[in-house]
Amino acid sequence: MQCWHCEEPARASCSLCGRFVCKDHFKPFSSFLTIFVGENNTPKALAVANVIWCGECEPQPEPIAMPELY
Ligand SMILES: [Zn+2]
Repeated sequence: MQCWHCEEPARASCSLCGRFVCKDHFKPFSSFLTIFVGENNTPKALAVANVIWCGECEPQPEPIAMPELY
């Protein structure tokens, strides 16, 4: 696969959208693996730092309501 940005050979894929990127065009990003309710009813999250991000896709800052699913 080729890098989304420069078309040189890619080294990884974006953890969010799947675009392929080379070493010069990836950006580090922190991401959540999962969020759950733990002891004492406390919300907890498992996070990962330095995952691959293409810099092109746009993670949204707020959840999107989807009431039509119920
Ligand atoms: Zn991406």
